[in-house]
Amino acid sequence: MGVDRRNGKGGDKCRWPHRGTQGVGRFQVCLEPHRPGAMATPAISGSPAPTPGTDISSRGPQSPSDPSPEPKQLPELIRVKRDGGRLSEGDIKSFVRAVVDGSAQGAQIGAMLMAIRLRGMDLEETVALTQALANSGQQLEWPEAWHQQLVDKHSTGGVGDKVSLALAPALAACGCKVPMISGRGLGHTGGTLDKLESIPGYTVIQSPEQMQGLLEKVGCCIVGQSKKLVPADGILYAARDVTATVDSLPLITASILSKKVVESLSALVIDVKFGGAAVFPRQTEARELARTLVAVGAGLGLRVAAALTAMDNPLGRNVGNSLEVEEALLCLDGAGPPDLRDLVTRLGGVLLWLNGLAEAQAEGAARVAAALDDGSARDRFERMLAMQGVDAGLARALCSGTPAQRRQLLPRAQKQEELLAPTDGTVELVRALPLARVLHELGAGRSRAGEPLQLGVGAELLVSVGQRLCRGTPWLRVHLDAPALSDPQRSALQEALVLSDREPFTAPSPFAELILPPTTAQQ
Ligand code: URA
Repeated sequence: MGVDRRNGKGGDKCRWPHRGTQGVGRFQVCLEPHRPGAMATPAISGSPAPTPGTDISSRGPQSPSDPSPEPKQLPELIRVKRDGGRLSEGDIKSFVRAVVDGSAQGAQIGAMLMAIRLRGMDLEETVALTQALANSGQQLEWPEAWHQQLVDKHSTGGVGDKVSLALAPALAACGCKVPMISGRGLGHTGGTLDKLESIPGYTVIQSPEQMQGLLEKVGCCIVGQSKKLVPADGILYAARDVTATVDSLPLITASILSKKVVESLSALVIDVKFGGAAVFPRQTEARELARTLVAVGAGLGLRVAAALTAMDNPLGRNVGNSLEVEEALLCLDGAGPPDLRDLVTRLGGVLLWLNGLAEAQAEGAARVAAALDDGSARDRFERMLAMQGVDAGLARALCSGTPAQRRQLLPRAQKQEELLAPTDGTVELVRALPLARVLHELGAGRSRAGEPLQLGVGAELLVSVGQRLCRGTPWLRVHLDAPALSDPQRSALQEALVLSDREPFTAPSPFAELILPPTTAQQ
């Protein structure tokens, strides 16, 4: 029996996520909007960081928990936030209720999101928003016997990030229960659900009962929010994607944690990206987001660790929905690109250690690696596909096939176009952001909520960072449903390749830092 690290005490009883708003751990975090060079919104005056266990609902008259004498109308709520004011817990509940019951118009939702994006939210508002989103649907409940095993991972969004597809089944193979509620593509970043939907038949909407069946029989599921599960996040998420309000620290925090609060987890790891293609490029900003996620998680009774990982280059070699499924399958074969395997094993190691299922992170990582190498993780993936709507024969063929056979089974784009290295040089960087933007334009991402995707559109990197290239060597294969790349698209892609005169080198791991929940010692 391992050590329960959820509250820093060996083998203590399970603590469950509270439905009420609680103190928010030891971090003082002011959730300001991120506008380089802009004036910061003043922090709440006289509002010290809540200490663990402080019930912020019993605070003074400025508290967002105060019941409003009369519910404000939406235009008034929007005006308060637009002018830099604070929303009470009651205001936030009214807004979320209007979002879910349909009384809020699209324009009002967009205006409120933009007001939050520009003005920010403080910690208490963010806790209240997270809780209100979580409360918009059902709380998942699991058998008592599972309480120590329930874990999950989420990412703030990257390019080529297919970690969840391999990690959820690998954790299941290590004895965990993983009720993963994932998201769709957001802005230029890809979404786990869109990737999985490139597998014919895969059904992301699963009822709580179906999720329980999946956890019983397979140990993991990867599902979307629905009318029953965090419906408010589904609406806001889609609206953010098309209103330039993705890069908001409180909106990201509430969106991610609301989905995790309803999962009744015992531990969660969040992969917070930084770098050129991350929502927050600077590591300092990403660290602030990571600390906020850990602190708001603590405030809601959720044990959250946050890993800061680099997102300058795409993760792995494939970008695009069905191409990423192919690469996740390679990782589940115990093969695939080293940066992907590194992240899958390290994030999994953190979770197994945090949850007391491994004595150290390295031991946890080795167990995840073993589940990839011995085929047990791939077996879980196959069973998950079959239980989530994929024909059992197709699931089998995908999981046991060669890469070439797999390609025949997944959606493919009509054309391929290769780009050539313009000079000799060592690959310093393949800029993920311009690559993602061109692929988005080609149909791998959405510009309107609910728009169908071109699931086969994507790109394969034919080179690795650190590798020496000769002029004229193909470095990128673009898969597209258009007759050809346009000139601006081709030159944007060529500019993504950064070559130097350096000697060849081994690319470093993307894993940079780990922020642990209060009371947990690093190991
Ligand atoms: N993932 C989410 O679920 N929400 C975000 O805002 C970003 C990543």
